[in-house]
Amino acid sequence: MPFNATPGKYPPNLGIIKEKVKKYYECGQYHKDLERIIKKALKHFKKVSLTPSSTIVFDIDDTVLQDYTNEKAIAFGYIQELFHTWIVNADAPAIPQVKELYDYLVAQGFKIVFLTGRQEKDYAPTLANLKLRGFTTFAKLIMRNPSEYGITASLYKSERRTQLTRQGFTIIGDIGDQWSDLQGPYTGYKVKLPNYKYVIY
Ligand SMILES: [Mg+2]
Repeated sequence: MPFNATPGKYPPNLGIIKEKVKKYYECGQYHKDLERIIKKALKHFKKVSLTPSSTIVFDIDDTVLQDYTNEKAIAFGYIQELFHTWIVNADAPAIPQVKELYDYLVAQGFKIVFLTGRQEKDYAPTLANLKLRGFTTFAKLIMRNPSEYGITASLYKSERRTQLTRQGFTIIGDIGDQWSDLQGPYTGYKVKLPNYKYVIY
């Protein structure tokens, strides 16, 4: 790259960006941000009056379960086989701040639905990992079926939330690390968690 290059014309250096991302997650800022976001969400949900159909939708990866260590080990790339092995291992840690919010909502009697982009064939290890980390109470665990493999996360999740609503669930809150978790109809109150590692559309 020429030294007199037009500013903005060239991408940032990948190595530098990876170091910045690593620092964000490891210097405490990620946890500080999570604490602030979850505190605000708790404040909101404490004011909500509960009905028998009140439902909160949680994404799974990087929302209730943490992918960071696994991704750092492969320098923040995406290798499908490794990601799948990691799902099958079913030992991802919980994100403690989100677990606190989940525990509060369960104790209050809100219905919980997990809505993940993971595929139905991985139902058993996904369920095992959720249970291992104490996410034992929920009304549904929704995963992509083969007819949904080719559509965007945003469309898949919108359609599934619409379906839930037709089934009588009243979605009053939606928690995810991607904007595609929170776009479209029937989200209720949106809680966006930080993710500086990847984007899913
Ligand atoms: Mg996610």
